[in-house]
Amino acid sequence: MAQHMTPDEFRENGYAVVDWLASYLENVEEYPVLPEVEPGDIAALMPDHAPEAPEHFSDLLTDLDRVVMPGITHWQSPNWYAYFPANTSPPSILAEFVSAGLGVQGMLWSTSPAATEIETKVLDWLVDMLGLPSGWKSDGPGGGVIQMSASDSTHAVLVVARERARYKANAQDMVVYVSNQAHSSVEKGCTVAGIGHCRRLDVDDDFALDPFVLEHTIDADIADGLTPIAVISAIGTTATTAVDPVEAVGTIAASHGLWHHVDAAYAGTAMICEEFRVYQPGLDLVDSYTFNPHKWMMVNFDCNVLWVADREPLIDTMSILPPYLRNEASDTGAVVDYRDWHVPLGRRFRALKLWWVIRSYGVEGLRDFVREHVRLADELAFRVEADDRFELVAPHPFALVCFRHVGGNDATRALADALNATGRVAVTPSQIDDEWFIRVSIGQTYTEQRHVDALWDLVDELA
Ligand code: PLP
Repeated sequence: MAQHMTPDEFRENGYAVVDWLASYLENVEEYPVLPEVEPGDIAALMPDHAPEAPEHFSDLLTDLDRVVMPGITHWQSPNWYAYFPANTSPPSILAEFVSAGLGVQGMLWSTSPAATEIETKVLDWLVDMLGLPSGWKSDGPGGGVIQMSASDSTHAVLVVARERARYKANAQDMVVYVSNQAHSSVEKGCTVAGIGHCRRLDVDDDFALDPFVLEHTIDADIADGLTPIAVISAIGTTATTAVDPVEAVGTIAASHGLWHHVDAAYAGTAMICEEFRVYQPGLDLVDSYTFNPHKWMMVNFDCNVLWVADREPLIDTMSILPPYLRNEASDTGAVVDYRDWHVPLGRRFRALKLWWVIRSYGVEGLRDFVREHVRLADELAFRVEADDRFELVAPHPFALVCFRHVGGNDATRALADALNATGRVAVTPSQIDDEWFIRVSIGQTYTEQRHVDALWDLVDELA
């Protein structure tokens, strides 16, 4: 017979886990940010076969320190400047714990009404919080849904765009447009959707999509007998946080009947602050928009939001109703069934952590959080610019600073490697065309002035 923890054992072990996590977060900045392990080191610490007999929970906790921690990359360190942040926060962790405990499947309204209704309500809040078009709220023609990742959302809307254009052409003759700085999820989405062509367009000096190039490429493709179906604008590209001209792209998209999707995976969080909304004009001409609370908004992975301006094409594409999913509430049409809003059927109660984070910090607290990171990034960029040894490689509209050593690629790569080898920080070396640069992404939950000062001291010392 399986041996379950008794309620008292669950309490005791649960408190021990919370204590362990609280100590981790309290001391996370003491760890070398990047793990010092070789491939296979962690696996070698585990037995080759699963245990036949039950093990005591205290042994599992011991192995957190012995087996897991040596191989952890400390994304929650305040000295984390690599990639983009993947923040968590205490209210988010606790909500995740509760969500696991409730263990509900929110695929239909009827399979857990609270999971659906809280999600709908919180995503409506976010429309106002981010200054998005009010028609994207649940009482308008549009609506929002939580999905696993920005990639999933982009893949899903490309399938919708394909289905919408089905009557015009074969998928193999369809074309999707994107800047050559766009995230790889667009190309992958074209593969997933079976779309024949993904055009990665040349960008301007600020690494943003050039509307003239877009227009000319569309015209040339039409002349070649192809069928343009969608264009994706980025607000904050992965390499440099470049911002595509959403309004101009939207006008071109509308004139050719293309689906216009916006990928604001990282920078969407900044829109909580009104001053950043200058980077998202023209949203009225957008068909779908995605952003990751799981990057910069302190909601732990996974939590990505997709909004559509009109929910009908999405639901028409994703809805399949086998008899075992039929139920009275859905049949009345009075409820939202989120399984019809994405590819998977099952879905976790992710709205709880979004709700708890927004309530715990308040919108004002979230604004302060974003503004402080942007201030720290501006200050770092100022230091870089004032130093003859370095140069900025791109504008820094948000909290990512991209710079290189004037000594060239070797000096730049050597500096990035030296920074990461200290264990005191993690940065990402990156490349556009033939030029290497260092990305410093400021945005971890606990990053403060003293951390960025220490980073700059290290850069100064190692350059
Ligand atoms: N889009 C952009 C602009 C990104 O920067 C990223 C990841 O960094 C993604 C999409 C992919 O995000 P996800 O991991 O949620 O799929």
